[in-house]
Amino acid sequence: MKDHDFAVVGGGLVGSSIAWGLAKEGQRVVVLDEGDVAYRASRGNFALVWVQNKGNGMPQYGAWTIGSAQAWPGFARMLLEQTGLDVKYEHPGGFHMVLSEREMEFRDAQLKRLHAQPGMPKYDYEMMDHARVKSLLPDIGPEVAGASFSKLDGHCNSLRLFRALNAGMQQLGVAYRSDHIVSDIRHEGGEFRLVTKHGEVRAGKLVLAAGIANARLGPMVGLDVAVRPQRGQLIVTEKTAPFLHYPVATVRQTDEGGVMLGDSQEEAGFDASVGQPVISVLADRAQRMFPKLGSLNVVRTWAALRVMTQDGFPIYDESSACPGAFVATCHSGVTLAAAHALRLAPLLAQGTLPRETFETFSSRRFHVQKAA
Ligand SMILES: Cc1cc2nc3c(=O)[nH]c(=O)nc-3n(C[C@H](O)[C@H](O)[C@H](O)COP(=O)(O)OP(=O)(O)OC[C@H]3O[C@@H](n4cnc5c(N)ncnc54)[C@H](O)[C@@H]3O)c2cc1C
Repeated sequence: MKDHDFAVVGGGLVGSSIAWGLAKEGQRVVVLDEGDVAYRASRGNFALVWVQNKGNGMPQYGAWTIGSAQAWPGFARMLLEQTGLDVKYEHPGGFHMVLSEREMEFRDAQLKRLHAQPGMPKYDYEMMDHARVKSLLPDIGPEVAGASFSKLDGHCNSLRLFRALNAGMQQLGVAYRSDHIVSDIRHEGGEFRLVTKHGEVRAGKLVLAAGIANARLGPMVGLDVAVRPQRGQLIVTEKTAPFLHYPVATVRQTDEGGVMLGDSQEEAGFDASVGQPVISVLADRAQRMFPKLGSLNVVRTWAALRVMTQDGFPIYDESSACPGAFVATCHSGVTLAAAHALRLAPLLAQGTLPRETFETFSSRRFHVQKAA
């Protein structure tokens, strides 16, 4: 008798969403997690549940993202009913603001390209000029040339989401083990043996959801998971009266009143430090979008490391060398939390990922690219 049906390695947003979903399917799950000391995108992100511009180059990813956004209202409600924790999900629609006519043209072309792709699900979006944006967001500055807007976009409080998933999965019987770094994985006798400093954990199936560490863990079970860290820096201001009733891709007011300004995309390896050159650019652009931000004090800046694949799209894969070993990794773990919990986890519980949907997300796509 194995100790668990599934071992999930990594208790960030991806691992927790999957573990919660597996437990809802009646699976006996253990989550082995390095804990708060680890590099954790899940505690440093911008908290958008975002659809706009997702899927340029992979329409299946666009469809997967839309599906997740559509599942989010029910997902948030399920977490609230189960745990009593409100993750403050709202979906009033979201803006991507531009500060010049050139940026406007670029954005327009980008969205047209996205929607022209064969297989890309159609959804409404609108390119708005300054006056139209101002009618919805009266505090914009004169430099705002316009924006793209999509009704599918929203945001949440991602720290509350993280907490609700952690509490929820444990209420459903998931054994959550912090300070359990998995140092080795063996596939023996039809089960997985995971080595930690506290001893060995045995499970029938395995999900690697350890963020950046998937790159090291994957080969232990025959999976190639080429992910790298990509730094993002963010700013949060003091709390202020509600003025921003829609999330903007780089500026959003949280449910608690602070305004988050984000977020850079930097290739800096494992360096998670904050630097003034980038922070000042973020602050400058945000203040040009909303001049009133200039009078708010900054209370905190931070950097976190994204989990980035070569093409920016998720990897969901199943090992052919070690059947029953899966990997799930992506750079939009807030947006995709609903899909991971309510769509991916039930498929994993059944024991396999249907090829027709998941072949695109396999890391085999990188081998084909290399061979070409
Ligand atoms: C600046 C920034 C802004 C972002 N904004 C958004 C956004 O607006 N919307 C959105 O959808 N997404 C956003 N993201 C992305 C989102 O935060 C990530 O996709 C998500 O958090 C990834 O979760 P994860 O669980 O894969 O990884 P992580 O959060 O990195 O968690 C990995 C987990 O694995 C554990 N671990 C590592 N190694 C081991 C090991 N050997 N054994 C056991 N456990 C291990 C760690 O303890 C950790 O808990 C943003 C990210 C950043 C950095």
